[in-house]
Amino acid sequence: MALIVQKFGGTSVGTIDRIKNVASRALAAQREGHQVVVTVSAMAGETNRLVALMEGVTTNYNRREYDVVVSAGEQVSTGLVAAAIEAMGGKARSYQGWQIRFMTDSTFAKARIREIEGTRIRRDLAAGCIVVVAGFQGIDDGGNITTLGRGGSDTSAVALAAALKANRCDIYTDVDGVYTTDPRIVPKARKLETISYDEMLEMASLGAKVLQTRSVELAKKYSVPVRVLHSMEEGTGTMLTNENPEMEKVLVSGIAFNKDEAKITVLGIPDRPGVAASILGTMADANINVDMIIQNMAHGSDTTDLTFTVPKGDYSQALAVLRDAKTGARELAGNPEIAKVSAIGVGMRSHSGVAQRMFKALAREGINIQMISTSEIKISVIIDEKYTELAVRTLHDAFELHKDIGDRITG
Ligand code: ADP
Ligand code: ASP
Ligand code: MG
Repeated sequence: MALIVQKFGGTSVGTIDRIKNVASRALAAQREGHQVVVTVSAMAGETNRLVALMEGVTTNYNRREYDVVVSAGEQVSTGLVAAAIEAMGGKARSYQGWQIRFMTDSTFAKARIREIEGTRIRRDLAAGCIVVVAGFQGIDDGGNITTLGRGGSDTSAVALAAALKANRCDIYTDVDGVYTTDPRIVPKARKLETISYDEMLEMASLGAKVLQTRSVELAKKYSVPVRVLHSMEEGTGTMLTNENPEMEKVLVSGIAFNKDEAKITVLGIPDRPGVAASILGTMADANINVDMIIQNMAHGSDTTDLTFTVPKGDYSQALAVLRDAKTGARELAGNPEIAKVSAIGVGMRSHSGVAQRMFKALAREGINIQMISTSEIKISVIIDEKYTELAVRTLHDAFELHKDIGDRITG
């Protein structure tokens, strides 16, 4: 007998028929002799609706109250799934984060998990129940409701699987696995049978929304066997694995994009030690994450320009903070209409020429590169947001990702 955590995302619980489908899947796994924990998201669109309600009251909301409001969607779907299981003759119990002591820190809206109390869940499982846990939510030491950031139910599921030492964590969603890029943008993208934790981590952190980044970090850290599957179709999905020797052979294994960043340039700042630290320090003090950074020396002058990206949601605040900070800059410029497009692959570690192939392909389409950042296993560029889809398709073609792994370019 295995213990399986099944996670169902928003679309997969989006209608009553789909709620019934979730109940059948959970019951089928139980009939096969397994203990089953189900983690659910809010019904499709519900969390967006709740965020909009909050923003209707004020855009300068208290994050504690934001979490009270946006966590509510999951309460409804847990109750509906548990009721559907019972209506089909099974035994089920739903729990909210606070009821099972899903403990997090107090960083409202992006809380980090501290520990999960498994006693109550284990007792119910032993009694033959299917346990239905609200994804996305937790509770801090002070008893306040917290949430794990958008897309956080993936992380809830993997954390539960790790805490309960589950044999498997199945993430059911609206695609049948992880693809070489978002199949909605590139219909000829290929499904991967397996993907290494490291590559999935890069894909997720560079924008592939199929799994929340934090869920992949936890899966890797606790060696949780994670599979991504379609909730309405049968199939083998994509398995996350430690190593994937096949992938070492190809230069690039996936393309990701992210439209959630904005670019800020601080022009004409004095060129002396400590200036970059102080400007970026103002961002850190305001709790704003800075991603890509470049600094350019203006030729023949004693000033320099600093360009960096921040989350789009923090863009206005970042500009306001910089205006108040008296940086000594000549000018402050910003552009929220940018996108980051990235090529990812463990195979690029040992090969050169990936960047050149990438830049050439973009140039052929007339796409201007505004910023570049590289690491051992990825290259990212910032471009004009309106070229995102074209860039993703172009790079997918340039690295022949639609082909069988054996037929792709290997450098
Ligand atoms: P859920 O509500 O089930 O959590 P999400 O919308 O969060 O689902 O994630 C699934 C979506 O992720 C897919 O519909 C797809 O458009 C998108 N996606 C982005 N990149 C990829 C990729 N590389 N492979 C598969 N899906 C991807
Ligand atoms: N319902 C939350 C969201 O929409 C969490 C999730 O779906 O994973 O972000
Ligand atoms: Mg999701």
